[in-house]
Amino acid sequence: MAETAAGAPAKARGTGSVQAHGNYVGGEWVPAASGRTFENRNPADSSDLIGTFADSGPEDVERAVTAAREAFPRWRAVPAPKRGEILYRAAEILVRRKEEFSRDMTREMGKVLAETRGDVQEAIDMTYYMAGEGRRQFGQTTPSEMQNKFQMSVRQPVGVCGLITPWNFPMAIPSWKAMPALVLGNTVVIKPATDTPLSVVNLVRALEEAGLPGGVVNMVTGGGGAVGSPLMRHPDVGVVSFTGSTGVGRMVSEACAPAFKHCHLEMGGKNVIMVMEDANLELAVDGAVWGGFGTTGQRCTAASRVVVHEKVSRDFTERFVARARALRVGDGLDPAVEMGPCVNEAQLKTVESYVAIGRGEGAKLLAGGSRLGGEHARGYFHEPTIFGDCSPDMRVAREEIFGPVVSVIPVPSLEEAITVGNSVEYGLSASIYTQDINKAFVAMRDMYTGIFYVNAPTIGAETHLPFGGTKNTGNGHREACVQALEVFSEWKSIYIDYSGTLQRAQIDT
Ligand code: NAD
Repeated sequence: MAETAAGAPAKARGTGSVQAHGNYVGGEWVPAASGRTFENRNPADSSDLIGTFADSGPEDVERAVTAAREAFPRWRAVPAPKRGEILYRAAEILVRRKEEFSRDMTREMGKVLAETRGDVQEAIDMTYYMAGEGRRQFGQTTPSEMQNKFQMSVRQPVGVCGLITPWNFPMAIPSWKAMPALVLGNTVVIKPATDTPLSVVNLVRALEEAGLPGGVVNMVTGGGGAVGSPLMRHPDVGVVSFTGSTGVGRMVSEACAPAFKHCHLEMGGKNVIMVMEDANLELAVDGAVWGGFGTTGQRCTAASRVVVHEKVSRDFTERFVARARALRVGDGLDPAVEMGPCVNEAQLKTVESYVAIGRGEGAKLLAGGSRLGGEHARGYFHEPTIFGDCSPDMRVAREEIFGPVVSVIPVPSLEEAITVGNSVEYGLSASIYTQDINKAFVAMRDMYTGIFYVNAPTIGAETHLPFGGTKNTGNGHREACVQALEVFSEWKSIYIDYSGTLQRAQIDT
């Protein structure tokens, strides 16, 4: 670990000076209490040092939570429309700096520029949406059983929210959590993924420039055990919102349970595209390529399974394989490139291990299967990979790989497609390709997922519908849309009796 102070330039090997980024605590950019830093490198070229970041620990979490707790009474007293106006200004700043932030993101996590622009755009959409919620925190008014009595419900913020986020949507996901929390009057401490701290630094800078008061948003970078764990366990943190793997999500849930904290979990997926015998096959292939290999398969909603009707299985698979083989893999900053690297060496090794598992299980390797060397050797690149003739019980067809690997599973009917589709432990997203409205409605009804698409792949959620999954993908909460407000607020029901007499509900009629 290099010893650098926050904001001071550090020397990168062969590339001149790089920025050293600190934590953001109480409106100040500060180094980790230990003074330690960690490096952030480009997964397309590991010799490219992007910057150094505070390698924080429990002491830094303590400072950030204290700053958030102290800022809470003032922030909650700011009228919600005014809070919304600050978010609106932050959205305008994100619009202005979209290209710069997108390039930073491609450099730190590898997905192609068109996709990182989409990621920043999602943060923009969410920020505008939640800015609007500043004027729309609707409650209910209902008639009372009694005369001369008024009643209503209002939302109230919870307090300090701990936000623990993954690397695959480095700005979008932090914004999905921070913006609803902030517009409701909460204060937040964000713990970015260690692979993608720069995108959260950029988001926080936009909020700072927009005029968010000090202490309302705080950011502490560092490892999951060193920062995420003390954050979720801190007694002053009332809400924990986590997106990441199901294994870590379970630990978050257990850590929150004793204190009955609000706990929101978005976790793994093993999403399915179902291709029926009457599908427009060219469209289905387009969807399978984009759904399976977009973001190098590193999306929670990635279409890592294609269940295809036996009557068209061969035709579909041949076209799908040809398209996967033709994908241009490389540095996402190159506009000609269609698929970037895996995010890091460990993720690439996971992909390699699943390729070996698939082969061992007897799945037919139809495309790819190897790490890329040569001009790709300095990055974590893997070929787009397709396994054919998979049975639903194979591990490659059941477990989340989180890389460019798709398993094709032939089935004899729609009913079987739905059974296979529902047979995994996750329930995030599913889709069907068919021209038959009846089949589409049956699948819409019977797939037990949080998201469903017709004639589109499993990816492409918009910010104004609820986002989340069933089974081991989630714990019943949703991000985006007005549903995102729920976990960050408590309802208060208020009864105002202006009769001047004691009126007893359910007793005086
Ligand atoms: P991860 O679980 O390894 O890490 C997620 C976050 O948790 C990171 O910030 C990490 O540092 C932190 N963390 C790790 N260990 C921790 C601990 N012991 N205590 C507290 N925090 C800890 O996940 P990842 O590799 O960053 O992301 C990939 C996973 O995220 C995949 O499973 C993917 O499906 C899932 N994901 C889900 C959604 C969704 O909305 N359902 C969206 C994106 C990603």
